[in-house]
Amino acid sequence: MRFSLARSFAQLAKKAEKGSSSIAVTKEPTKKPLLEIHQLGNAELRESAKRISKVDDSVRTLIKNMLHSMYSAKGIGLAAPQVGIHKQLLVIDLDIENAATPPIVLINPEITEFGASLETYEEGCLSIPGVYLNVIRPSIIKLNYRDEMGRPKKMNADGLLSRCIQHEMDHLNGVLFVDRVMNEDDLNKELTEHGFNKKDVIALT
Ligand SMILES: [Zn+2]
Repeated sequence: MRFSLARSFAQLAKKAEKGSSSIAVTKEPTKKPLLEIHQLGNAELRESAKRISKVDDSVRTLIKNMLHSMYSAKGIGLAAPQVGIHKQLLVIDLDIENAATPPIVLINPEITEFGASLETYEEGCLSIPGVYLNVIRPSIIKLNYRDEMGRPKKMNADGLLSRCIQHEMDHLNGVLFVDRVMNEDDLNKELTEHGFNKKDVIALT
């Protein structure tokens, strides 16, 4: 009994090690966010991000700082350009209330396939606080990326994860979710209500 229990723990540990991020940070909000998150209207958000050629300790430090900033702002995703760093790096955590769920770190993500079906879902963004609007996107994606150790990985995503990855990857190209909003009236109303300016939106639709 003890042996089998010990063995199953070992197997669990091995499984966890394989699937999870090795970046361990607390999900508790920090008093003073380490990185300032830029808001709609800031030109930093419109710059494209460059590929990361070497995943080293400086990248891992940036990942930790981004995670702290994301958790402090109660967000589920953050892309490096939002904190003024134009590198192809994003962090996601769809389970921010649960300390045991590891975050997802995507470096140099590339979508290799979009599913045919589209989905409408309400999005928000740490760079446009308070604004929530419907956006249409493909519901399923396949992607390649590197993890926080620089290892090449593949992932299939659907649902909220797919949505979140596509939203964050837009940031790497200087695109914001409000650029994709189809309903002009809702867009104008939401932006005005939350103190943002329509002239900062670059319509893609
Ligand atoms: Zn965003």
